[in-house]
Parts: sequence; C-alpha cells; structure tokens
Amino acid sequence: MATVIIETMTPESYEPPPMSAIDLATTQVMIGDNAKSYNVYKALLCASSKNFNAALNGQFRDGQLNELKLDDIQEEVFEDYVDWLFAGKICFTQRAAGMRLWDLYIFADRFHIPQLKRDAVNYVHNANRPPSLHFVKRAFNELPDKSPIRSILIDVYAKYWDPELEEDKTKTREEMQMLPAAFLGPVLIEVYKRLEHPYQNEDLDLCMYHEHPNDAQVQACRAKRAGAKNEIPRPVGQVDLGDPLNG
Ligand SMILES: [Zn+2]
Repeated sequence: MATVIIETMTPESYEPPPMSAIDLATTQVMIGDNAKSYNVYKALLCASSKNFNAALNGQFRDGQLNELKLDDIQEEVFEDYVDWLFAGKICFTQRAAGMRLWDLYIFADRFHIPQLKRDAVNYVHNANRPPSLHFVKRAFNELPDKSPIRSILIDVYAKYWDPELEEDKTKTREEMQMLPAAFLGPVLIEVYKRLEHPYQNEDLDLCMYHEHPNDAQVQACRAKRAGAKNEIPRPVGQVDLGDPLNG
C-alpha cells in the first residue's frame, strides 16, 4: 500500500517523490469551457501549490469535496503542468516551447507554484536563443512591473540576442516596432554597459529571478545548480567505458 505524502515536500522546494512514497488518492480536476476531466494525485497537487493545498485541505473546504474546477485554464497548459508535476522538469522541447512556456509561467504565478516558476526561469536561460519577441511583448504587457521574468528577458536580450540568428528578418523587424519602452530602455542601457566593459558580463545569477523566500534557499539552489553543471556528461569519446570483461 502507498504511504502518506512525504512531510518535507513544500511548494518552495517541490520535487516529485517516488510513487511508492505518496498517497495515491486522486483529485478530479475539470479544465476549460468543456470541463475536460483529469484525475491527478492529490498529494502532488497539494505539495506543489499553496492554492491547491488550501482548496483541497483548507479548513473552509466543503465537506467531502475532492475536485477542482478551473474553467478559464486551457487544457494544454494544465497538461504541461501535470507533466512537470510527475517529471520534476518542464517536458516540452525548446523548439516547441514558444507560448507554452509563457502560459505555464502565468499558471504557476497565479496558483503559487514557486518551483515551476523557477524551472521556467532556468528554461529561458538554458535555451539556445532568447525567447521570441512576441513572448517579450506579452511579458511586458501582462506581467507586473517587478516580475523577475521581465528582468531576465532584459538581461538575456542585452547579453545574448543576435538578430542575425533570427530566421524571419521581416517579422523580427515588425515585432521590434511593437516592443514597449519598458523593455527597450533597460536593454539599451545594458548593451551600452557591455560595450564599455566587453568582458564584464558573465553567467547570470539565476537566483536573482527565482524569488526565493530566504537566504538558505538561495544557497541551496546555487549549490544544486552548481552540482548539475558538474554533472554534464563528457563527450562519448572521452567516457571511460571500463573493461567489460574485468568489470
Ligand atoms: Zn535559485
């Protein structure tokens, strides 16, 4: 039999637990106008999100109610969230990302899923190229001024964007006309600083955009990311495959 959810799981440091360690009770979640129904492990929903936890375990909860209705959420966005819940990472490919990443970030912001927001920040940073200008436009139109996703877009564009790599130059030019001053101004300043000190800019400190609740979390996150960096596998040619006969 499954045991209860691991007590240490919190939205601030959500990681998917082994299936053998969670309560396998499910919650029915109805998504979108058509109320498409999903059965999702309640333990994972509650561990990842303060809002879902309050809705399903809160003291004002309605008796036996064990369902959520999210009628203004798109099915695709919810499915991307569920994939993340199980995998502990964003599952779609960089190529497919586009607006999906953006919609997922908005979802995470709305339902207080801090680890998913952090993973989205890391995803932006790890992409081969910056998110599209269309993404930038939406971020600046729809997110609060202080949102760290706006800051990372400014930094990523100022430091890494190369217009020459954009495939559709006409579209890029059109999209640039639509960009808000709140984005262009800071990008210009950052680019100028870079010209003055061309070797000054190094890797971004992603914790600046992670909204950690305290210093201990910042330190833990930095250590974890440094560890992940060191785990990058060597090219196959350099890997010691050992001697299959002598173990
Ligand atoms: Zn961090």
